[in-house]
Amino acid sequence: MFITFIYYLGWDCYIVESENQPGDSEMEAIEKLIKKIKDFRDERDWAKFHNPKDLALGLNIEAAELLELYLWKKPEDADVERVKEELADVLVYSLLIAEKYSFNIEKIVTEKIEKNAKKYPVSKSKGTAKKYNEL
Ligand SMILES: [Mg+2]
Repeated sequence: MFITFIYYLGWDCYIVESENQPGDSEMEAIEKLIKKIKDFRDERDWAKFHNPKDLALGLNIEAAELLELYLWKKPEDADVERVKEELADVLVYSLLIAEKYSFNIEKIVTEKIEKNAKKYPVSKSKGTAKKYNEL
């Protein structure tokens, strides 16, 4: 798997590339990715700006930039290259928040899937977009 992150802060744009080695598990790949993001951050002495509140603000700003790519367009008309970039920004902020709290990403995502499975049992939710409280 080859991943390219384009990282923005203010007016600056940085490209960080990562290539997994054969045999890396997905979690090892994510851990390597987090290390690359932290190295990138630490080389610039930006950790002092990365408190959970500002990381959450950054995450939401990047999510809004992702949304903007679809504004007034059919979904298929969005610029997929720009979608990659904004999604990468969202992932970077998500990983930084998880790192800030020392969350185990696999564990928290698995727990959330299990929680959602209870809220959205297949028997009631299959094929419908209704919210759990409307099933
Ligand atoms: Mg962005």
